[in-house]
Amino acid sequence: MANRKGLDTYRGKRNFDRTREPEGGQASPRDVPCFVVQIHDAGTLHFDFRLEVDGVLKSWAVPKGPSTDPQDKRLAMPTEDHPMEYRDFEGVIAEGEYGAGTVIVWDEGSYRPLPGKTGRGSTFSEALEKGHASFWLDGNKMHGGYALTRFRGGGFGGREAWLLVKESDERAGGRSTLDARRARSVRTGRTLKRVADEEAESGGSGDERGGSARDRAGAVG
Ligand code: MN
Repeated sequence: MANRKGLDTYRGKRNFDRTREPEGGQASPRDVPCFVVQIHDAGTLHFDFRLEVDGVLKSWAVPKGPSTDPQDKRLAMPTEDHPMEYRDFEGVIAEGEYGAGTVIVWDEGSYRPLPGKTGRGSTFSEALEKGHASFWLDGNKMHGGYALTRFRGGGFGGREAWLLVKESDERAGGRSTLDARRARSVRTGRTLKRVADEEAESGGSGDERGGSARDRAGAVG
């Protein structure tokens, strides 16, 4: 399957003996495509915005996080495709490992492409390849139309750069600035600090569902 190869970069960056992030490849296809937004307290605190496309999570690191204000253009730097299972990952990536730091699932839900704005006859993944795609999010926190637009290509060894912008629609407006340190997991209600503290207490190296310390110890070995 094409997507297995799509995860080579993801797998190549990680040692699965040392991180509890998923290796991926086990998830079955879903009827409705999903999105997930994680907050990641790595070297630089950022949001990770991920859209399910062709069986993987297409991913962008968004330093300031999404905005509900159509005037705000939020920088979104593409990162490697992540496995579908990553949408469940909440926990701590151990020091010394790729992406070391705490992750919470800030928002999740489903989305649908907005084809009128994506170009007739092309699929959503083609639209992304061309550098512009619009979509409607039905999340717990994020709602309505958003667009991702590439404004700098990745040629000559440079890094691609995109913008994530809210569309002007009935879901625009409201508070646009997010405080990532105070934000809570949509799954468990925990802040980054709470997740980090709980894992430090349990001595484990990560648990996405907040299981007991004993569960963790067993799983970590
Ligand atoms: Mn990240």
